[in-house]
Amino acid sequence: MNVADSEVVASIMGEAGYQPTKNIHDADLILVNTCSIRENAEQRVWGRLDLFRSEKRKRPQVVVGVLGCMAERLKEKLLESDKMVDIVVGPDAYRDLPMLVASAGEGHKAVNVLLSREETYADISPVRLESNGVSAFISIMRGCNNMCAYCVVPYTRGAERSREPATIVREAQEIFIAGYREVTLLGQNVDSYSWINQSTAGREVEGNVSAKGSSNIGFAQLLGMVAEIDPLLRVRFSTSHPKDLSDEVLETMALHENICKHIHLPVQSGNSQVLERMNRKYDREWYLGRVKAINTILPGCAVSTDIIAGFCGETEEEHSETLSLMKEAGFDFAYMFKYSERPGTKAARHLSDDVPEKVKTRRLNEIIALQNELSVASKKADIGKVFEVLVEGKARKNISIVRDVESNISATDKMQIKSDNHTTMMGRTSGNKVVVFQTQDVKPGDYVMVRVTSATSATLIGEVERLKGL
Ligand code: SAM
Ligand code: SF4
Repeated sequence: MNVADSEVVASIMGEAGYQPTKNIHDADLILVNTCSIRENAEQRVWGRLDLFRSEKRKRPQVVVGVLGCMAERLKEKLLESDKMVDIVVGPDAYRDLPMLVASAGEGHKAVNVLLSREETYADISPVRLESNGVSAFISIMRGCNNMCAYCVVPYTRGAERSREPATIVREAQEIFIAGYREVTLLGQNVDSYSWINQSTAGREVEGNVSAKGSSNIGFAQLLGMVAEIDPLLRVRFSTSHPKDLSDEVLETMALHENICKHIHLPVQSGNSQVLERMNRKYDREWYLGRVKAINTILPGCAVSTDIIAGFCGETEEEHSETLSLMKEAGFDFAYMFKYSERPGTKAARHLSDDVPEKVKTRRLNEIIALQNELSVASKKADIGKVFEVLVEGKARKNISIVRDVESNISATDKMQIKSDNHTTMMGRTSGNKVVVFQTQDVKPGDYVMVRVTSATSATLIGEVERLKGL
């Protein structure tokens, strides 16, 4: 999400005459786009600000700005810190950046952290930063209305609002024409995407006609509209909320081969009481029911998740239910975190962060160890199968080294393995698994059919059978 926001900022500043640079010593303006989701994310930003301050000491004319969630949360406090910050801009105020930067250049520090009920930056064509030229993110909504007890997002990014579908489809078309082959539709809770089109009252236009005569485009319809741009454009999305993931979305995924068969469905905990304290609005049975619906409607669809270890009041038994749910769901991948209390959230105000740090760490380690086993099992099950892979670029490691890691060959032996004229390339399956393979003649953006021959815990290793369609 922050990448997508930085791309909007790059576009706004581009219009004002600025260009991105990779070299901090060349920059007239340094902007850091921040996340507040966990305390360690904020700690990293404070570290970065130290670096920017030393740059500003050498070149006092440089303007330093803090953007995003941390700007929204800390507001003027950032200007008052000793970090030499000039501007503080919340996630809904990026259009104001050129004016704020200009006034900072004249010596006036400035803050705009107003949240909006309408801003979606719908008309802005993001400048793709550090892109691989194959995959791009498209923001389809902003903010969140869910108020999960542990989460700072509703406070830092404001209320949920959906972006007009025509602007999303247009952006996806432009991306496809520019050569990209994959879009990821982004929102905190994509399943609650909703656009009421009043101007089409009474007519059925790519959506459902309500009793009042206005048409509503929900996430399933939007997904179908983007998928229909071209069969060669892969469509992904994130994040799905278990309480809102509908069968209609799953059926739309089944209808379109180019909608990737992967759902990121954060569970957070496997225990219903913990989920209630978290205010997640579903219980263990509901979550497992959604996983069953995915497996029924989309056999073979990958499911990944987010898990929080050591939330307020979590007992050993409650923790063990997270482990048992993980096994039952058989997650392909997970992001796993220790609970980190965030000021101002419901949990910080009403619940006690009472699981000792040592216990949180141990529980997180148990969750990570189990997920490693599940990830290995999910990859081993792919050996022998053929997958359509979208090529993203050269692999960071040569294939012989990836194989060595798997077989624990010593470093000296590694040096002796000869690489041939082939290049090791990487891409992803529809289920979002990384595959590396050697080839002479494919380029980023190509689709290839790859047979998986072996796997490490993180990567599938394969051989190209043929280009797709040949
Ligand atoms: N909107 C998504 C959802 O509902 O699952 C995820 C949003 S959040 C940016 C990404 C993940 O960070 C969450 O799914 C949760 O696991 C984790 N997270 C959020 N707040 C946290 C906190 N206070 N401590 C630890 N992890 C947290
Ligand atoms: Fe945070 Fe919950 Fe909204 Fe996700 S759904 S952003 S976890 S409040």
